[in-house]
Amino acid sequence: MPVKTPITVAYGDGIGPEITAATLKILNAADAPIDPEIIEVGEKVYLQGFSSGISDEAWASLKRTKVLLKGPITTPQGGGYKSLNVTLRKTLGLYANVRPCTAYAPYVPTKHPDMNLVIIRENEEGTYAGIEHRQTEDVYQCLKIVTRGGCERIIHYAFEYARKFNRKKVTCLTKDNIMKMTDGIFHQVFNEIAKEYPDIQNEHFIIDIGTALVAAQPERFDVIVTSNLYGDILSDVAAQVAGSVGLAGSANVGNHMAMFEAIHGSAPDIAGKKIANPSGLLNGAIQMLIHINQPASATIIENAWLVTLEDGIHTADIYSKEYSKRKVNTDEFADAVIERLGKIPHHFKPVSYQTDVRPKILCYGESKSFTAKKELVGVDVFIENTKLTPLELGEKLSKLATDLKLIVITSRGLKIWPNSMIDAPYANHCSCRFQSSADLKNAKVISHHDIIQLLQKFDEAGFDVIKTENLYLFDGKPGFSLAQGQ
Ligand code: NAD
Repeated sequence: MPVKTPITVAYGDGIGPEITAATLKILNAADAPIDPEIIEVGEKVYLQGFSSGISDEAWASLKRTKVLLKGPITTPQGGGYKSLNVTLRKTLGLYANVRPCTAYAPYVPTKHPDMNLVIIRENEEGTYAGIEHRQTEDVYQCLKIVTRGGCERIIHYAFEYARKFNRKKVTCLTKDNIMKMTDGIFHQVFNEIAKEYPDIQNEHFIIDIGTALVAAQPERFDVIVTSNLYGDILSDVAAQVAGSVGLAGSANVGNHMAMFEAIHGSAPDIAGKKIANPSGLLNGAIQMLIHINQPASATIIENAWLVTLEDGIHTADIYSKEYSKRKVNTDEFADAVIERLGKIPHHFKPVSYQTDVRPKILCYGESKSFTAKKELVGVDVFIENTKLTPLELGEKLSKLATDLKLIVITSRGLKIWPNSMIDAPYANHCSCRFQSSADLKNAKVISHHDIIQLLQKFDEAGFDVIKTENLYLFDGKPGFSLAQGQ
């Protein structure tokens, strides 16, 4: 009997307890060498007064086992407590979210029977940094934070994953035609790292056409790497195209810890009815067994699960008159998988995972280019403006007597001064760009004191300054975007 690996298990909310119990029952029947420690997370814990949704004891278990198998957790929309899922991913450094989306046709109806792709989503950065501010009565802001190191790590991970699992191509999806800096660095790092993997093909698409292609021709994709929000949306699209969001599992992986779950949520609409499909979490658990280097258990369970699908034993979400023989509830589905442990599928290709000398992929952001010369040459001062027209605003701000010159005023990224092309621009939320010179080639380096002096003038003139963003040159190149129309 192999040594049992301690793992932490959280049942979660909604259908979580039902599908987690079913999954553990299958792991237990397959003699998977695991030693589960049960913790509580989610709604109950919030109600006990832990605003993070997780108790200190539960953290201690996670730090001990370094592996979490987790049922879905309910997160309120619009307001309320912060997502525990995001807290776990970020606190535990789980930078890679791996979501295989495979078709199981004809047993799970799909228009794309040959679909077999894996989405590798950056898990810690982008808009999921969750840094939001209400700046005026009607203006709300969400910051998108992207680091070069974060891009390097996730893109390396995608290529390493492709190598380990014998996949042939990595596709990068960004929106760098619009977000030239944040998405631009993701694409640039992809091009750099792709050169280190000549054995793996690489390509890039803009995210919108990329998503359309995933929906229309998913067979053409193999491994997809993308940033946090795009990956979140895309993986649900892909899971649905494959046949059901109820089937896919997801791994959240870091260099020290990993968390495994289903891609779907807590499905409050069917919670307590015991009809949920446990396959998503079971597939997450299979990824967990591969991660803890227990390939024999992963193989026997996945093959039994494939036989169950082939035998037409289906939960309601994937039931079809044509290919299903018996509609079962959550527990009956688990029992059907258990009955088939040791069997090999006939229609589907049987899986056979091998012991790996290096089961975990470890990636680090190398941050190659921290040698750039950084020079402060100006500042964007954001104000709430309720009274002045863009023309009046431009005239008034041009007269603020400091060494910094007003270059342009923008609103929601569009130039509204000087020479606005539109009659009545929105001018309540303005970004006023001041530089030491209009010509950046000749821009003199300024100090933070110059900015403080400028802000003093804003204050004396009665403006409501919302925030500032410093304007830097990096090796002489602007580290800021130009306004639309500038
Ligand atoms: P959902 O995935 O919970 O449900 C979407 C639809 O799919 C529902 O009709 C549901 O009944 C069905 N469904 C989902 N899983 C199923 C399964 N295993 N078997 C059968 N049918 C299934 O998405 P939602 O309704 O948008 O979210 C509900 C809650 O889950 C929200 O609070 C959300 O924040 C949370 N959520 C959590 C996670 C997570 O813990 N990782 C992920 C996504 C959503």
